[in-house]
Amino acid sequence: MPELRQNQFTKEWVIIATERAKRPEELVVQRALREVPRYSEKCPFCPGNENKTPPEVLRYPANGAPWQVRVFPNKFAALSRDAEPRRSFERSHRRIEGFGVHDVIVETPDHSMAMANMTEAEIASVLRAYKTRYDELSLDPRIAHVTIFKNHGAGAGTSLEHPHSQLIGTPVISSQVRQRFQEALRHWDDYGDCMFCEMIREEMFHRQRIVAVTEHFVALEFFASATPFSTYLYPLRHMASFGDISAAEIDDLARMLQTVLGKLYVGLNDPDFNFVIRSAPAESAGVKYYHWYVSVIPRLTRVAGFELGSGMFINTVLPEDAAEFLRNVKVEEPAISV
Ligand SMILES: [Zn+2]
Ligand SMILES: [Zn+2]
Repeated sequence: MPELRQNQFTKEWVIIATERAKRPEELVVQRALREVPRYSEKCPFCPGNENKTPPEVLRYPANGAPWQVRVFPNKFAALSRDAEPRRSFERSHRRIEGFGVHDVIVETPDHSMAMANMTEAEIASVLRAYKTRYDELSLDPRIAHVTIFKNHGAGAGTSLEHPHSQLIGTPVISSQVRQRFQEALRHWDDYGDCMFCEMIREEMFHRQRIVAVTEHFVALEFFASATPFSTYLYPLRHMASFGDISAAEIDDLARMLQTVLGKLYVGLNDPDFNFVIRSAPAESAGVKYYHWYVSVIPRLTRVAGFELGSGMFINTVLPEDAAEFLRNVKVEEPAISV
């Protein structure tokens, strides 16, 4: 029978349509693996073309050796760091001048290197660049919220194939983020517990939605997953802000990302995907009721009229089946087996 499941963090309902159920393997991407050259003369992110990007704000390694990771302002930024976040109000029209920060993080000099195939050390360098920029921007009083994300593949919205991620710091906190916060705070008020920590304990007990466990992280298929194979990575230690991640946890997250992205790459044939680091806004870095995480969302299905109209999604793959499928995909796995 179909089932409605509620996302406990947003209170939104999802339809798990088992009548139209698909076996996870039916969603394997049907195309040849992407053929991407290791170097492209025309690519502004490839080595030798550094002058085609705005001046960098961060580079690893910093010792003058050839770079592995570069961070610079997005040339086509959604927001401008030169604007002042001045507000203007009418009763029904509110505006803020388009202040914000929009960085590009080039993850590797290799034009063809998908993150799933990078080494743990290489992924850890990318994560360290995220954290360095996150920390710097969190100190800027004009920035209310920092979102770090990656778009992989045209179906996930990327326009440049060279592996990169982005970071956008906005002068406001979106209502979607606020709503999650309010739900988490309400849960804390009612039960005196972080709802994320609580869910992690329950998932670790039930096990059927767990994909992998490492020393500091757990990866699982979300109970009320809106789309097939939505995979969430939670730190086991309670932390509201990505800025609080330790050096050991960065290395471990690199291991976990490599495992999860590797399983998606091998199991589903390199699907397009987005990942997002969902951290507490800087002003709420130390709260007991929110818990940061990474969501990895493969783009295997399309959003259609019902989703647009109702805000509810129809998911045709049982999260438990997706978890089992991913557990069985063999990649080099440093994770503790479940
Ligand atoms: Zn390139
Ligand atoms: Zn927690």
